[in-house]
Amino acid sequence: MTEKSIKQRIDQLKTGGIIDLHFDLPMDLYEKRDRENVLATEFLLELKAGKIGMVGAAIYVEDRYLPNAGLRVALDQVARLYAETEACPEFAICKSYRDIENALKKEKIGLLITMEGAEPLGKDLNLLRVFYELGLRSMGLTHARSNEAGHGGIFASSGSSQEGLTGFGRDLVRECETLGVIVDLAHINPAGFNDILSVATKPPIVSHTNARHYYDIERNISDDQIKMIGERRGVIGINSVLVSSKEEETTLDRYVDHIEHIANLIGIDGVGIGFDFFEFIYSQWPESAKKELAAKLTAPHFIPDLRDHSGIPNLIRKLIERGFNDQQIGKVLRGNWLRIFREWL
Ligand SMILES: [Zn+2]
Repeated sequence: MTEKSIKQRIDQLKTGGIIDLHFDLPMDLYEKRDRENVLATEFLLELKAGKIGMVGAAIYVEDRYLPNAGLRVALDQVARLYAETEACPEFAICKSYRDIENALKKEKIGLLITMEGAEPLGKDLNLLRVFYELGLRSMGLTHARSNEAGHGGIFASSGSSQEGLTGFGRDLVRECETLGVIVDLAHINPAGFNDILSVATKPPIVSHTNARHYYDIERNISDDQIKMIGERRGVIGINSVLVSSKEEETTLDRYVDHIEHIANLIGIDGVGIGFDFFEFIYSQWPESAKKELAAKLTAPHFIPDLRDHSGIPNLIRKLIERGFNDQQIGKVLRGNWLRIFREWL
């Protein structure tokens, strides 16, 4: 294949927009709440360079705000998302499959509001309804911590809590399905994973994770778990910051290895994108916060050619080099998530 035809294929595959289901945007907008036009000045260029059609914008509350300010910070994050979107017409908050279709058609950057960790709800199911009305459309019950819903998987190959979901956690899964809030199994511990699937009836997602086959920590997912998602016609988004514990193995090829591994187990229909680009936040931290993260969870490694959304053309090129055909690449970049949205939203 000539360089010219590869470039044409990359351009064609970008058309229609790429969907990344996990991006820590709201917490960054919240930390920069004294500024205006943060979306337009700090994010728009790279999102456009990557031809992003939609991102999952994850409400996440850092430890230092919990427990008392959790709800307030989460609400403020949603408020910033609305204010910033209003100020930058290239973005659109999407609440239904039709909204998503419209955003993609108009080549806007769609934002799907998601939540990573149920801490803002405390133990109050009514608040899920409130967040739903504000636009919440996907919910991961936990981050790495424990909360009123359940327990997160730890960043080690064993040792997560043996306990599954609480009664509140089970109610939350049921209520999400009733309202139309996509249930996300990213981060949940192995026991909670089984509990969610015992309650859930719709196709589940794991918005951002990696195969334990390549990085064996309970925060990632095992081959058996991958098969359980596949049996229910769910989709697994591949994370870019946990592809390997070793910096030298944190490469674009290893990212594609994760895609290939999951496709081999459950078919290409089960794989999507959940980059979890994090360097823009990480690089703002003082050295002490980086050390704290390394001690508490892990020291993240960033893929050199895929550090933010502007690296997406590099990923598409690599998928072509590795022998994926256009239909398969299209499913990974958007088609599989679109199927989930069609069924849920
Ligand atoms: Zn996460």
